[in-house]
Parts: sequence; C-alpha cells; structure tokens
Amino acid sequence: MDGSKLHVAILVSPGMGHLVPVLLLANRLATQHGVKVTVLAVTTSFSPPESHLLEIPTEKNLVDRIELPPVDISRLIKPDTKVVAQLCMMLREALPGIRSTISAMNHRPDALIVDHFGTEALPIAAEFNMAKYVYVPTGAWFTALTLYCPVLDKEIEGQYVDQEDFLKIPGCKLVRPEDVVDPMLDRNDQQYDEYVSMGTRIPQFDGILLNTWQDLDSTTLKAFKENEIWRSIVKIPVHPIGPLRRPVQPEGSKSAVIEWLDKQTNESVIFVSFGSGGMLSAQQITELAFGLELSEQKFIWVVRPPTVGAADDAFFTSKTVGSDGTPCYLPEGFSTRTGNFGLVVPMWAQQAEILNHPSVGGFMSHCGWNSTLESIRGGVPMIAWPLYAEQRLNATYLVEELGIAVRPRVLPTKKVVAREEIEKMVRTLMDDEGGKKMRENVKKLKISAENALSKGGSSYNSLSEMLKHVADKLKA
Ligand code: UDP
Repeated sequence: MDGSKLHVAILVSPGMGHLVPVLLLANRLATQHGVKVTVLAVTTSFSPPESHLLEIPTEKNLVDRIELPPVDISRLIKPDTKVVAQLCMMLREALPGIRSTISAMNHRPDALIVDHFGTEALPIAAEFNMAKYVYVPTGAWFTALTLYCPVLDKEIEGQYVDQEDFLKIPGCKLVRPEDVVDPMLDRNDQQYDEYVSMGTRIPQFDGILLNTWQDLDSTTLKAFKENEIWRSIVKIPVHPIGPLRRPVQPEGSKSAVIEWLDKQTNESVIFVSFGSGGMLSAQQITELAFGLELSEQKFIWVVRPPTVGAADDAFFTSKTVGSDGTPCYLPEGFSTRTGNFGLVVPMWAQQAEILNHPSVGGFMSHCGWNSTLESIRGGVPMIAWPLYAEQRLNATYLVEELGIAVRPRVLPTKKVVAREEIEKMVRTLMDDEGGKKMRENVKKLKISAENALSKGGSSYNSLSEMLKHVADKLKA
C-alpha cells in the first residue's frame, strides 16, 4: 500500500532506547511507504540532551520532530519510585500537551502510534478520530508476557521470582521466574500496577506493531494468531515490522574508532558495551578488565564509571585518569598492557556503525533490544550480559532459542562474573567451534532480516497492511 496521503503521529517516551526505534519507524514509514510522520517527543525538564548522539538522519520534508512542553514529575515521585512508574507518570503529565499540539496542527494525523508507555493517550486518539496503534519496540516474547501479565496477576499468588515452576504463557516459550521483566520483580511496587494496566490497555488499540520479524519470533507470533486463549485476549492484528534499521551514514570523515577497526583483520575484534544506560559495579569493571586482558582478544570497550552507591564504591577515587591515560576505575596500567590490542572508548561510541564493520566478530552486550537487533544485522554473535528491563528474557531467547549467544553461569545482576569466566566466554565466542556455530546462526538471521524488510518481505507487507487499515478507516 502506498500511504502517500497519510499522516501518522508517533508518541515517544523519554530515553534513548525508546527514541531510537521510533526514529527508525518514522524513517521507514517515510522512505518506504511515503507517509508523512510527526514524532511527538515527551521531554522532561531534566532529560539530558542526548538525542544528538544518535546521528539518525530523519527524512527531511516527511518527518517532523516536535518536542512536547517539558513535564515535571518531581512532586509525584519518591526516592524509590522505579523507572517504569516514572515513565508512565511522565506520559500522563504530557497528555494535555499532546492534546493541544495535535489540536493546533493544520494537517491532523490520521493515526496515532504510541510506544507501550504511552497507552494512556488512547482517549486522545478517539477524540480526534484517529486510528490508534501501540508500537512495542521489542520482541514478541516480551510482548506476550506484558499482555498476559493481567492473567498471571489473577492466577499466581506470591512473588513471581519465588515461584518454583516456570511461568506459562499460552503457546509461548516458558518463562523462568528469575527472567521476568523488572516491573514484575516486586508485585507490591507501584511500577507493577502500571505494568499490569499497560497489559490491559494495549488490546484496546486497533493493532500492535513489533520491532521483530516472522523468522525471529515465529513461535510467539503463531500463538498470537492461532492459539484460542490468545484469540480471546488479543483480538487486534499484531504486525511484526522489523528489524528497523538505520539509514546508511553519508560518506564523511571516519571516526578514530572506525579507523582503528579498518586496520584489524576480519571478525577479530570483540565490541563491549552495555547500552545507553548500563553501568557495572566497580568490582565487576575490574573483573571485566582483567577478563579481557587474559583473553588476549582484540577489543573495543565503551566504559562508564561504576554504579554510584555500590558496596565497593570506595574503589572509585577522585582521580579520573592514571599516568598512562587509564581511567581511574580501570585497573592501574590497563591501557599500557592492552594498548596494542584494545581500545577503550569513554562513555559513548557509534555502536550501529561499529557492529556493521567487518572487523567486529563478537559483541558483549546488555541485550537491550536495539543492541540485539544491531548485532543480528551486523551478523555478530554475542555474549549476553543482561542488566535491567526485559534484558534477562532477551538473553535467554538469544542463547536458548536462537543459538547466537553465550552467557555467564550466574545472572550478572546477582553476582559478580569472575575474570576467568569472562576470558572463557570471550575465547568461546571468538575462537571456538561453539563460536563458529553461533556465527553461522546469526548470519542466517541477518539474511532473513534483510528478506523480511525488502519489498514484498514479511515485515514490509505487515507494515503495508497496517497502513491499509488506517486508509480504510479514513474512507469508512
Ligand atoms: N548506543 C550507541 N552508543 C553507545 C550506547 C548505546 O549508539 O555507546 C545506542 C545503541 O546503538 C542502541 C541504543 O543506543 O541503538 C540503546 O538501545 P538498547 O535498546 O540496546 O538499550 P538501552 O540503552 O535502551 O538499555
């Protein structure tokens, strides 16, 4: 379907992991389907100005970005208010600004797409007679858990993490109690209630968009379509439209990191990074540093100072760099000892570009969904090191279902992963037969992702189908 006459607004909650997939969806709608897109970004008075780091060019003329009036939730939160609860509050506070912004538009949007934190904007879509969609920018298994949580809430007593049996979701892979998403870790916390409400509201939209594709999530997608229980819970279409990808960067001057990669041999470098917000304890950073050093494997490591308030915080001194340039939170002399085979990048690197470079052969990642997709698109197998949100689920899926990752024996959020284990995982991924198999598997997925996105592919068709529904609604 060519949606050249359509105008779609996408509401995005604060946070890089949310903004990235929304900008990619906006670009996809504009470039592949000729849709005019307005991205409505919820901002807070204290959000760091980080979006410039993304370097995702959006289609001029077709994609507009509007920053909504900043919201302030400081009077609503307590020191222990968790992130999901905060995001839901921000979106609630933003509702008047969303309403007035849409109302002031000359060309009103025909459809409103919200991310899963924005489901309370449902009445606004109805008010302006817009088609309404939820974009869950992650995988289908996480989405199934979210949609089924209101049922689990009635069926299961006590904390999910204390259950002896796996959690059963109809037609889907069983969920290990310790893998549940962060808001399900404590049923007495406010963010759990927000999460259950989210699961209840999503099926009231006209459809769900997922940043995944048929081959990656076939079991869950089949369950949504064919399982009787699911058909009674989710009566709306589920559209797998991913993996959305970044446009190719225009040729320009190369970053120092890419120049360094240009000098390395094919698939010889492991890239180590824990997303836009992932931080490790001081003790874990030390073990990771020694693990990389022991592996003698070429690496690029995006490092951040350790988590504040960790028991071992005394390790963190006021000195920022040692005499050889080693950041103070890395072991003394680390840069000197690893300088001929490793590169330490403080805080931030152009990750998608790095994972696409032929010299990169492994990715140690916190398994955020964007990072996971970028790794698959680069054909790069992973060391799955989940930290927060739905990352434990993602890690299990990558290891057990897709066979494209190796993971530590213990959950890194529960116990420090020792240097010897890190060394072993790096060697397995980069040298071993096991690593070879994972590489083969991820390369097959890379090809299947490309096929899904190409014209006539499953994800391309699924997005066309959704746009056709919007156009049909307009005619009705
Ligand atoms: N990212 C990046 N450079 C960094 C860290 C993160 O470009 O140094 C990008 C990364 O490529 C991805 C996004 O930020 O697109 C992080 O999203 P993800 O879902 O992986 O994790 P989150 O940061 O939300 O935990």
